[in-house]
Amino acid sequence: MKNSIDKIINTQRDFFLTHETKPIAYRIAALKRLKSEINKREQDIHKAVNLDFKKSEFESVLSETGIVQKELNLLIKNLARWSRPERVKSSMLNFPSADYIYKDPYGTILIIAPWNYPFQLAIVPLIGAIAAGNTAVVKPSELTPNTSKVINEICKTVFDEAYVSVVQGGVEVSQELLSKRWDYIFFTGSVFVGKIVAKAAAEFLTPVTLELGGKNPCIIDHTAKLKLAAKRLVWAKFLNGGQTCVAPDYILIDNKVKTEFIKHYQNEIKKAYGENPQESPDYPRIINEKNFNRLEAMLKDERIPFGGRTDKNDLYIEPTIIDQPDLDSEVMKDEIFGPILPVLGYDNETEINAIIKTYDKPLSFYVFSTRKAYIKKLLSSYSFGGGVINDAIVYYANPNLPFGGVGNSGIGGYHGKQTFETFTHNKAVSKRANWLDAPIRYAPYKGKLGQLKTFLKYF
Ligand code: NAD
Repeated sequence: MKNSIDKIINTQRDFFLTHETKPIAYRIAALKRLKSEINKREQDIHKAVNLDFKKSEFESVLSETGIVQKELNLLIKNLARWSRPERVKSSMLNFPSADYIYKDPYGTILIIAPWNYPFQLAIVPLIGAIAAGNTAVVKPSELTPNTSKVINEICKTVFDEAYVSVVQGGVEVSQELLSKRWDYIFFTGSVFVGKIVAKAAAEFLTPVTLELGGKNPCIIDHTAKLKLAAKRLVWAKFLNGGQTCVAPDYILIDNKVKTEFIKHYQNEIKKAYGENPQESPDYPRIINEKNFNRLEAMLKDERIPFGGRTDKNDLYIEPTIIDQPDLDSEVMKDEIFGPILPVLGYDNETEINAIIKTYDKPLSFYVFSTRKAYIKKLLSSYSFGGGVINDAIVYYANPNLPFGGVGNSGIGGYHGKQTFETFTHNKAVSKRANWLDAPIRYAPYKGKLGQLKTFLKYF
């Protein structure tokens, strides 16, 4: 593996240096080939994701191929415009000059993807890397072998290995890849592994994007439309079986409306998944036994007004509510990443702050309220990657909004134009003219300081 990774990197570097990937027409043609192959293999992708963790075709279209197709269309349409050198105002200090920002590819990119949206989170960064004129190596997750296989087949069909190549494998392969010099690393996954990636990147001062996780709070005040909030939050919490980085992790709710909210929430779960969600074709499974055990341990000794049934053989955990867990309980320690919703009541809004501040800056932040001033106050009080008022997750679907974390939830972002920008180095170029050469900057400086100060003051 070691030798073959070195070989792939060297071949990709050579390919990049031949400038093959730089012409815009070449990149657009590559994106179009990718689009057409994904269209052709759409059913295989959905089947693979379903085999990996029983995700329904509807959720796959919504959150895997749908998002990928949207991103492909947007980048194909706008690439010529976004990649043009951008003329900027020149500095009078350099007069006469014409100044530009050139949109330059980094070179050879490493993309490491997680298992939870196994197709989308490997392919959208790849679209960005190609659009920006790079070559790329993609390492999909070992926990979704069926999807990783299809990703490999698609890339093999569409691209020369010297351009885009898929390396499959687990932690060891990932570490081997990280031990090499890259021009950019794009990582999506846990905070724990994100730190390993950052350390490896530091060795070569490689720039990184880290798309990580966190504990996303969801505040519901006494003015919220409770029934609608419950409906939206059932969708947001149980989409992908709760295994979503932007899922609402826990609810902070005014005690005056808590019982009513829980009642609505239970009803909405039944409406969505029936009396026995294990039989619903729309309800995914936990990815593996390790995560199943981790989640099952969170249920122990808790008050569970709804749900709580599990089936290890089927990696099934019922949509579950935990009522008022302690802050030091298992479920409140780290990101849950499963179909378990802790509901914490508050009597006074000042209690909210103490709980949210217990955790690192979250990836997402949600508020259900109809009080504009209160919403405004919350938005300015907390730092978070992105958020939604009166709903959850949906900001992710708008390519005009950048997606990424802050602090422990990540570094950098992508989606839409930012997907292109992330894989692009902004190369600054001043083009000086020769017809004038102001003498002021040249030594000897004697007698010129006054002129310089006047110049700096007015220009
Ligand atoms: P993970 O960090 O365990 O694995 C991600 C990738 O890193 C995989 O390809 C894996 O092979 C590799 N990896 C695992 N351990 C490694 C190690 N020790 N050294 C080097 N590489 C290693 O994450 P996961 O379980 O696949 O995904 C779940 C996590 O990802 C959650 O924390 C979730 O919040 C986060 N996530 C974030 C986003 C986002 O866009 N911000 C999206 C999806 C998931």
